[in-house]
Amino acid sequence: MALLAAHPALFAAVAGLVGLAIGSFLNVVIHRLPLMLERQWRAQAAELDGRPAPAEGGPYNLLVPRSRCPACQAQIRGIQNVPVVSWLALGGRCAACRAPISIRYPLVELATAVAFAAVAWLFGFGLSAMLALVFTAYLVALTGIDVNRQLLPDILTIPLLWVGLLASLWHVDGQAAPPAALRDTVIGAASGYAFLWLVFQLFKLVTGKEGMGYGDFKLFAAIGAWLGWQMLPLVLLLAAAVGAVVGVAMLAASRLGRGVPIPFGPYLAGAAWIAMLWGPDIVAAYLEFSGLG
Ligand SMILES: [Zn+2]
Repeated sequence: MALLAAHPALFAAVAGLVGLAIGSFLNVVIHRLPLMLERQWRAQAAELDGRPAPAEGGPYNLLVPRSRCPACQAQIRGIQNVPVVSWLALGGRCAACRAPISIRYPLVELATAVAFAAVAWLFGFGLSAMLALVFTAYLVALTGIDVNRQLLPDILTIPLLWVGLLASLWHVDGQAAPPAALRDTVIGAASGYAFLWLVFQLFKLVTGKEGMGYGDFKLFAAIGAWLGWQMLPLVLLLAAAVGAVVGVAMLAASRLGRGVPIPFGPYLAGAAWIAMLWGPDIVAAYLEFSGLG
């Protein structure tokens, strides 16, 4: 511990390696959590209709069954499950049937590792870094699920909000967030939800369409609970800016019609992560630049 505290580069390297392993676990969460929820919903719907529960064969959760190749069902052995390395060694293909394995898996592992190393490097060893790593892992999982399924599950967003609020009990005045001050995070959680809810209702009133989901409000509330209300305008601005650029690029590239849903969650998550690491600097630079500071 003292070693990690004394050597920032060592801490960043260790965090990066841990990030690879956590990224591997987040792949499982991203892939399986929506399927687990769908099973639950089907069982509930059947119960509501008085039908027998659908037969779904065997337990299915984050640990059971072992990972299998989606094409040939071959079980993935431990040695083939080393983050990034296995994917590269196997040339991005299943060892048994040579079916291609999505590059998303090593990308999630690599992105998590880089994000973990950056957090460790910028915060240094301590409570802030540990909390920031937890926040980062949640954001990766939420981003992956929203990209794949246009879904931000309550089972992730609600605990994330509570952990942010509870962590702020340990806030020390004058120290960087997380944890932010309790007063700021409580206001952040409430105003984050309320603001996007209001935008959603106004947008619906004017256009008759639904531009966001309730998951977006909850995620924004959780971001307020982690960073404090002061960071919310910056998060929204960053998310909108990146979202607009990517959205236009995607429309241009694929000639998708307007109205194809583009999930907002990944932009909120990315913006929140940037705001956590550099938010105070960006705000200070802006105030100086605009002469307000
Ligand atoms: Zn296979």
